[in-house]
Amino acid sequence: MAAKSQPNIPKAKSLDSVTNDRTASQGQWGRAWEVDWFSLGSIIFLLLCAPFIVYYFIMACDQYSCALTGPVVDIATGRARLSDIWAKTPPITRKAAQLYTLWVTFQVLLYTSLPDFCHKFLPGYVGGIQEGAVTPAGVVNKYQINGLQAWLLTHLLWFANAHLLSWFSPTIIFDNWIPLLWCANILGYAVSTFAMVKGYFFPTSARDCKFTGNFFYNYMMGVEFNPRIGKWFDFKLFFNGRPGIVAWTLINLSFAAKQRELHGHVTNAMVLVNVLQAIYVIDFFWNETWYLKTIDICHDHFGWYLGWGDCVWLPYLYTLQGLYLVYHPVQLSTPHAMGVLLLGLVGYYIFRVANHQKDLFRRTDGRCLIWGKKPKVIECSYMSADGQRHHSKLLVSGFWGVARHFNYVGDLMGSLAYCLACGGGHLLPYFYIIYMAILLTHRCLRDEHRCASKYGRDWEHYTAAVPYRLLPGIF
Ligand code: NDP
Repeated sequence: MAAKSQPNIPKAKSLDSVTNDRTASQGQWGRAWEVDWFSLGSIIFLLLCAPFIVYYFIMACDQYSCALTGPVVDIATGRARLSDIWAKTPPITRKAAQLYTLWVTFQVLLYTSLPDFCHKFLPGYVGGIQEGAVTPAGVVNKYQINGLQAWLLTHLLWFANAHLLSWFSPTIIFDNWIPLLWCANILGYAVSTFAMVKGYFFPTSARDCKFTGNFFYNYMMGVEFNPRIGKWFDFKLFFNGRPGIVAWTLINLSFAAKQRELHGHVTNAMVLVNVLQAIYVIDFFWNETWYLKTIDICHDHFGWYLGWGDCVWLPYLYTLQGLYLVYHPVQLSTPHAMGVLLLGLVGYYIFRVANHQKDLFRRTDGRCLIWGKKPKVIECSYMSADGQRHHSKLLVSGFWGVARHFNYVGDLMGSLAYCLACGGGHLLPYFYIIYMAILLTHRCLRDEHRCASKYGRDWEHYTAAVPYRLLPGIF
């Protein structure tokens, strides 16, 4: 196993013990090699509770019109027992299993069998064969970027069905929402377990595997860095983008169709949620090549966190606003709707421009203009596990000079806008902003720990030049 073939792997250091000792930091800057008790506790908690959290939210909508406290109050006051709630929960059905199999198979086919043609006619779009970042073992993977094409074809088919073909009802996703949840769980667990077994017995790149010696940590955070089947089927790129993010906009459309069916019209809140989230999704696919350089792809290993998370957590919890609006057809006043739209668009602008600035800066090796000026740079270097020294640069201008993760602030503003579109009637649609705030704060700390290990003193120069992580003067 990889751990045995690398007996002198150093332990991950804490931030304050970071030095510029390049040899010691060699190869240690991916996910942890050893697990502390806090991480282990959190992981076991998530493995045990995350599937129930998802079930609780969806069941609360189905049986209690999205009142989160409804089930707890009913059980506490003896009005219902757990077994009553479970008995009212729709089981997996043959129809849902067929639908889900068809859906995943269609996405696999689009991913593997249809080389990108969008980059041939869409000006400014970068698709086709692209290279990822250097992995800790020094490997550079190639990717077939065709997500935008898959999203476009899937949605074309959806609209063709809704307006011409009538093969299925546009409410089909809502109508099978809980039976589909069981199917998504089966795929999520199957793919995570397969990835774990593959990591031990037939990894794609053994030098990029990590074993902590702790089963739960390995299962959750993954062993293999970039598991693949064949040359092109990359688990991370496929599972994050295709069943999860392509589905996001379709799920919202199905919720809008259900709102119309039940209430006779689609409210402005539902339109706002559909439009703002569609901008985020289309942005993701338009910039799929950029995504190869983000933490999910170039730092995280593929385990339950990504496998189950992409199949279940993302499609079910990122779409709670649309689901809520089916049960509560909120119609916002014009100033409220305009405020939400403005917040969402400004958030998106910051998110996109910040991400674009870093991408442009890295692609041009700093030979570009940021906010009309030559960017300020911190030169840095790091070593990969094969002993190769690499050089890189950290941007200190634009949003990257305002705070070290201002891109997350834009994302959080957009997330808040989706929630505010649902009005103030219930807590459930606000889960998303609470979750994103925790996710992105944790991600920020995790990333900084990694960057400190990777770049050593050069990272300290950056934190001295840009002292705040998210909000200048606050954090
Ligand atoms: P970033 O895009 O911020 O990438 C962080 C990496 O960028 C660091 O590890 C480092 O990598 C490099 N870097 C850091 N500082 C600098 C700098 N000053 N100059 C140049 N490079 C730098 O993080 P994410 O991948 O987490 O996020 C990408 C986007 O995706 C964000 O906007 C985030 O909001 C969004 N996101 C959304 C999620 C969702 O569920 N909706 C989940 C996660 C992210 P290197 O090793 O290359 O130096």
